[in-house]
Amino acid sequence: RTVYVNGSYLPEEEATVSIFDRGFLFADAVYEVTSVVRGKLIDFDGHMARLRRSLGELALSSPVSDEEMLAIHRELVTRNDIDEGLIYLQVTRGSAGDRDFAFPPADTKPTLVLFTQAKKVIENPAAGTGLKVISIDDIRWGRCDIKTVQLLYPCLAKMAAKHAHVDDAWMVRDGLVTEGSSNNAYIVTSEGTIVTREKSQSILHGITRAATLRLAEEKGLKVEERGFSIEEAKNAREAFITSASLFVMPVVEIDGAAIGEGRPGELSRRLREIYIEDALKTAI
Ligand code: PLP
Repeated sequence: RTVYVNGSYLPEEEATVSIFDRGFLFADAVYEVTSVVRGKLIDFDGHMARLRRSLGELALSSPVSDEEMLAIHRELVTRNDIDEGLIYLQVTRGSAGDRDFAFPPADTKPTLVLFTQAKKVIENPAAGTGLKVISIDDIRWGRCDIKTVQLLYPCLAKMAAKHAHVDDAWMVRDGLVTEGSSNNAYIVTSEGTIVTREKSQSILHGITRAATLRLAEEKGLKVEERGFSIEEAKNAREAFITSASLFVMPVVEIDGAAIGEGRPGELSRRLREIYIEDALKTAI
């Protein structure tokens, strides 16, 4: 693989970052993941807008312009011959050459790293069977709307899911589901209303969430942005998640209880198709 680090395209074995980099020492860094279909980027502008917001909230500076970001993404797709997959991007506050909690001087250069992952994103076999999830407490910090690389708890959540022989965990705070470990969570009520938690500092404002809700409303589907409990989810007609890497992905079981008939729901499947059709049309 050819990766990008601070202005250079290098074989992955040769790409290095300082051990004093604040991304490594303090998780003082933000990231984005953008999907590639047929060699093109899905919702690139959305991901860049969220990156700017994450950077701004943490007083991090951007090492390059959005135009340069686009050029780097495209160069990596070409160099790695990516037809379908993901591009991971991370910006850290860089390194002042020692470990110090206080931010380094303003002229410290941020670190920018990007790499690709080839992966089937459209023909994902999981879409045919749906995912099983467990619920766990959401003990994350209070700014889940900032896409930081502080991902230890989501890693523990995925491990808890793995140990329970399921695919993922939905996090619950004060009795209501916030989101999945790396995705936004939804249910479909018996009336056919799509329910997902409202935007706040408690969830990441998914780029796929925004697209899915927009498309749902364009198709005349009813959307309600509010919290829901695991109990309500277990009794829902359908459930699904969204993320840049999974698109719209049906959920068929929560804490051992089958959702609906325990198979991917009709609306979830339709939303997945609608999302993919739109993504293929609008990818750049
Ligand atoms: N929520 C969390 C906690 C995430 O980590 C992610 C993606 O990584 C999402 C939601 C989905 O966001 P997006 O659709 O922008 O990928």
